[in-house]
Amino acid sequence: MSFDLSGKAALVTGASSGLGRRFAITLAQAGAKVAVAARRVDRLDSLVQEIAEFDGRAIAIQLDVTDPDSVRHVLDVAETELGGLSIMVNNAGMVLRGDAHEMALADWDAVIETNLRGAWMMAQQTARHMMRLGHGGSIINIASILGIQGRPWVPAYSASKGGLISLTRALAVEWAPHGIRVNAIVPGYIETDINREFLASAAGKTLKARIPQGRTGVPEDLDGPLLLLASDLSGFMTGTTLTVDGGHSAQL
Ligand code: NAD
Repeated sequence: MSFDLSGKAALVTGASSGLGRRFAITLAQAGAKVAVAARRVDRLDSLVQEIAEFDGRAIAIQLDVTDPDSVRHVLDVAETELGGLSIMVNNAGMVLRGDAHEMALADWDAVIETNLRGAWMMAQQTARHMMRLGHGGSIINIASILGIQGRPWVPAYSASKGGLISLTRALAVEWAPHGIRVNAIVPGYIETDINREFLASAAGKTLKARIPQGRTGVPEDLDGPLLLLASDLSGFMTGTTLTVDGGHSAQL
């Protein structure tokens, strides 16, 4: 057994930027055919091109994880174009920051709808697809250390990621008899569009100084955990969370 994913098909949500883009490249480099999905489908063209340059195979599909029709559509297109999926990375996500006592209900709803309801719909449709094809697979939810530890100004985000970690465990238990593994990667601070502005602020700099390894992460720091959970080498792992944060959440 190895980290080789040749012959497998994977789907990555929110692949147009940041971690999702890196996940797609890593899976394709390991040999998987990859469906890359995002709302901004034009931003996926350069990713498909980059993967083709190392003889990888990728297709771009438009996806809004808050729209049930779009979620069904992405699974249908991926199956038609690539065959049965055995890996799905639930990566699409967003954050809205502000004082909790001032947060508008619409902002709360937007974050929960994307990060928790969207991830749930993607997992549900993927499991139906895998059960129908009868070959099992690996669902990898991208949570956050904010789902396990408290920080101010991100109440909806924290609740959505804590919910996603609980959902990971619940689905892992229910779908284990179908050969579907459900695990979560729990990243700490990795500089991408979602946090670049915050990390450059005074609060962000203070936070960075508290990370035991003395740095924020780069998307490549998640390559190993991703390949472990995507491949058969983690065949007996389900319902787990892999924290990748430079020791941040381990610190009192
Ligand atoms: P990012 O903003 O670059 O990526 C988020 C992606 O999700 C974007 O491509 C965005 O377009 C997509 N997205 C948002 N709403 C969507 C929707 N309704 N439908 C489809 N796609 C949608 O930020 P990132 O850091 O790459 O974040 C990726 C994931 O990693 C997110 O779930 C985020 O919460 C999680 N995460 C990031 C960090 C970090 O430090 N960067 C830490 C922990 C968790």
